[in-house]
Amino acid sequence: MNHTAGRTAAVEQAAEVLRQGGLVAFPTETVYGLGADACNDAAVAKVFAAKGRPSFNPLIAHVTGLAAAEALGVFPVAARTLAQAFWPGPLTIVVTRRENCPVSRLASAGLPSLALRVPAHPLALALLQAFGGPVVAPSANASGRISPTTAAHVRASLGDAVDMILDGGPCQVGVESTVVSFLHGTPRLLRPGGLARETIEACLGMTLSEAGGGPLHAPGQLESHYAPRATLRLDAEAPAPGETYLGFGTHAHGPHTLSASGNLIEAAANLFRLLHDLDALGMNRIAVAPVPATGLGEAINDRLRRAAAERPS
Ligand code: AMP
Ligand code: MG
Repeated sequence: MNHTAGRTAAVEQAAEVLRQGGLVAFPTETVYGLGADACNDAAVAKVFAAKGRPSFNPLIAHVTGLAAAEALGVFPVAARTLAQAFWPGPLTIVVTRRENCPVSRLASAGLPSLALRVPAHPLALALLQAFGGPVVAPSANASGRISPTTAAHVRASLGDAVDMILDGGPCQVGVESTVVSFLHGTPRLLRPGGLARETIEACLGMTLSEAGGGPLHAPGQLESHYAPRATLRLDAEAPAPGETYLGFGTHAHGPHTLSASGNLIEAAANLFRLLHDLDALGMNRIAVAPVPATGLGEAINDRLRRAAAERPS
């Protein structure tokens, strides 16, 4: 088998791993990403478990092009202008999710927004093409470690948590994508990265406003989080009169359960979807079963506490 055929076979195999709900690390022009089917709640939950993040940050969904991106999110004119100028490339664009957007709510950490990017690496694009849907991919390193720019970094940091690594050699940019949000009128720079602010501003003919002060977040900045319309009561052994119960494991009363078997990855996969469903059903008071604080339980409890503390403004 020649080199190209070997690559094609590896890409096909990687796409199949994604279809099965597995994790594939792949090279982008910025860093190696830890990829999962963006529309599969359980696969997205595995990404958080593998990285060992203590809370759920929203993930970037990688797509093949602007048309695929616009099927998932609502692009204002300026966002489309940037996408046309810089995609494929190290630019992530945050927009409002379309109604019926199939991307897992966990990937958006329950927020009404979605981050989208078209990577410039040929292997990344080949994988996205072969898979045929959006792929979430945060950097393929354990939380708190440096971002991986080689396949060896990925193996050293994540070990067996990743099902397959597509090895494309060292990444070129080595810093993460620049993140620009179009959620609140004027575009905002949420995270500086591989595409310079000045280049973006020259393209738009306007300055980017700063992230701080708004309801968005980037690392180290004010953090936004999902807040349901209903009030939440946590660590509830059972529902009080008038409450809808969100069960877990042996604590199950009624039809809504994070995980009947007490599996924390399953609970993470279901968390935001169930909260959104209960909001949509018009439930005003939700009592949530105790969830252990081990493994993904730490991130689940973190988000539940924030959701219980805040009302949307
Ligand atoms: P990483 O996946 O580690 O490269 O980081 C993803 C970056 O995109 C972080 O800075 C997030 O804050 C940002 N991001 C991802 N999704 C969203 C979203 N829905 N709303 C706002 N920021 C987002
Ligand atoms: Mg990272």
